[in-house]
Amino acid sequence: MSVIYDRVALIGLGLIASSMAHATKRAGLARHIAGYAKTASTREAALEIGFCDSVHETAAEAVRDADLVVLAVPVGAMGAVAAEIAPHLKPGATITDVGSVKAAVVEAVAPHLPEGVHFVPGHPLAGTEHSGPHSGFATLFDNRWTILTPVEGCDPAAADRLGTYWQGLGAHVDRMDAAHHDLVLAVTSHTPHLIAYTMVGVADHLRRVTESEVIKYSAAGFRDFTRIAASDPTMWRDVFLTNKEATLDILGRFTEELFVLQRAIRMGDGDALFDYFTRTRAIRRGIIEAGQDTAAPDFGRGKAGG
Ligand code: NAP
Repeated sequence: MSVIYDRVALIGLGLIASSMAHATKRAGLARHIAGYAKTASTREAALEIGFCDSVHETAAEAVRDADLVVLAVPVGAMGAVAAEIAPHLKPGATITDVGSVKAAVVEAVAPHLPEGVHFVPGHPLAGTEHSGPHSGFATLFDNRWTILTPVEGCDPAAADRLGTYWQGLGAHVDRMDAAHHDLVLAVTSHTPHLIAYTMVGVADHLRRVTESEVIKYSAAGFRDFTRIAASDPTMWRDVFLTNKEATLDILGRFTEELFVLQRAIRMGDGDALFDYFTRTRAIRRGIIEAGQDTAAPDFGRGKAGG
């Protein structure tokens, strides 16, 4: 693929931004990647690893002359960063973000942006429980979805170009409105994370099962909860603070379903449990058929050695 943006500026240099930089270089999608992060040690790491061509002391400097600006900071920091960079954006530039919540980001960022720049919010549905500049890798977005949520009145050419860029990073691209995105993600990501946090919290409280037993026997399901519950606390705090309505809606439904299963167990209703688990198994099959996970036993860990 050829160059799509001459100059890309990454604000925030953690897992997502560094992975975007590696993937941009892999495909030659930009001539120059400028970067900015809050702390000096992160900026130094970005230079040392080499995924940025230049690293700047301020976000304002980093966005100067950039054709694409990517906000890759925690959702709660997006508004302040947008206010800081707004006067320094190049006319005609596209500004996007990678935040896990969309409506709140649009609300926080859009009011700061000057006329003549194109705001196309986005969210790559790819990640790991690791964070920081050392955690990124070029293949993170391969075969994963990135959802763009262009705001009303957005220049279609700017949205198309950003979509092409994400395809160059390896992703499939879809579009939807911000509110729908937040509901979809509440079901597929945010509430499951909350449940994982809760489950690990429960095990922590349960003194009848010793810590060593929890660790030793965690392969039986619990290990996947612990991986998810190791995710970045800042990021996930911000997700729940900013996707409050949709998460509470889905959590309410989850609680109702839990009571249904609890009752079936109490009543010894094997048919109800069997039918329920048959339906959920079909959902898992659908995810595998869509290429979003592996059917290998234990998620392919045996082979991967992890
Ligand atoms: P990360 O690895 O923790 O990196 C966050 C980066 O933002 C760091 O470089 C940090 O700088 C910088 N930062 C934090 N506050 C800042 C501020 N006020 N001003 C400037 N820079 C600031 O996080 P990430 O996983 O890449 O997540 C970034 C965004 O992507 C979040 O909005 C998250 O919701 C979204 N996202 C994450 C995932 C995932 O699985 N991790 C997936 C999809 C989308 P310092 O290092 O200097 O502190």
